[in-house]
Amino acid sequence: MIHIDASIPSGRITVLSADNPADIRLEIPTDANSFYRGWYYFRSSGVRGQKCTYRLMNAGGFPDRPGFENPWMDTGPLASYDGIRWFRVPATFDGKVYSFEHQAESDICYYAPFAPYPAERDQKLIASLQGSPLVRVRTLGHSAQGRPIDLLTVGVESSEKKACWVIARQHPSETQGGFFIEGMLERLLDSNDPVARTLLEKATFHIVPNMNPDGSANGFFRTNTLGVDLNREWGAPSLDRSPEVCVVRGAMEQIGVDFCIDCHADPGLSCNFVWPSQNVPTWHAGRASQFDHFERAWAAASPEYGYGEPYPGGVPENADLSMAWNWVGNRFPDSLSVLLEQPYKDTRRAPVPETGWSPQRAARFGATFLNGLHGVVDHLRSQAEA
Ligand SMILES: [Zn+2]
Repeated sequence: MIHIDASIPSGRITVLSADNPADIRLEIPTDANSFYRGWYYFRSSGVRGQKCTYRLMNAGGFPDRPGFENPWMDTGPLASYDGIRWFRVPATFDGKVYSFEHQAESDICYYAPFAPYPAERDQKLIASLQGSPLVRVRTLGHSAQGRPIDLLTVGVESSEKKACWVIARQHPSETQGGFFIEGMLERLLDSNDPVARTLLEKATFHIVPNMNPDGSANGFFRTNTLGVDLNREWGAPSLDRSPEVCVVRGAMEQIGVDFCIDCHADPGLSCNFVWPSQNVPTWHAGRASQFDHFERAWAAASPEYGYGEPYPGGVPENADLSMAWNWVGNRFPDSLSVLLEQPYKDTRRAPVPETGWSPQRAARFGATFLNGLHGVVDHLRSQAEA
């Protein structure tokens, strides 16, 4: 007897039929109070040695986005027996239904578009960091469902030091940001690493590992529990609709921003995509120069960096100031504010077909991000190069 369960942390699926292993039919639910859907995560039990065919019946139905690949093409789900090692299962997409076959080696197997990052992992990470004298944790406020929004500060604060912000997972299904931050933190707290040591002499890090803990807990694709896309709330956040953004934006106003990276992921990309908040009203040439230092240093440190990747569909002439990276870039005119989009699929550069993009690769990419920051830190808070 096969059981498909989504009642696991960050789980999400609707079972239409699981009576026949050769014809397991599933649907992706929408986020609460929203039309957004795209995240699934479930556990199959009783599947050892069984040839199972899974069909996500409502995977299609979204219009193509110019410059992006189809999210369901040329990629399968990540699967895992232990929740630690994830491997890629091949899949097909016919424009509507996304199908994959798998014969599991264990009684239980987990499937998702990318490795989940449940709230328990956030709490474990934060608890483990308390052992470091360099880290302070402050609860800025609470989400719509009352979960804490935590800010980690790494390094000693001083007006001489650059304030560098790293925020992630406004969109809860983009768990890549959580693994990226883990890799970054591991390196940043390694006192034997000269890049980390130098950065901490020049900068203080302000890190919000999870902007949307309600979305993570509920297994949502893109919104908080009120159905609000937090990355469209930065222009005028409210405690009623988007308390998560309200409290983080308030902390940025209080502390200041010299650098900010907003960590996202996009299922329509086969690369890591990074772009500055170009075309906000306060955009100036000095920022293009800062970004050049930043991306050259990061690309030199990691072949995973998508150097030269064009903005999909072209850079918008009018930047949307309701998005975090643009709001930050506009509000703090001498800061460098960048958007990061990691892939779900494999990358075209340095691919690993067995896993595609993976939590481990995201963590390594997060560690090399510090090289990018090291390349730009002396050029932040200066318009002289304009
Ligand atoms: Zn996103």
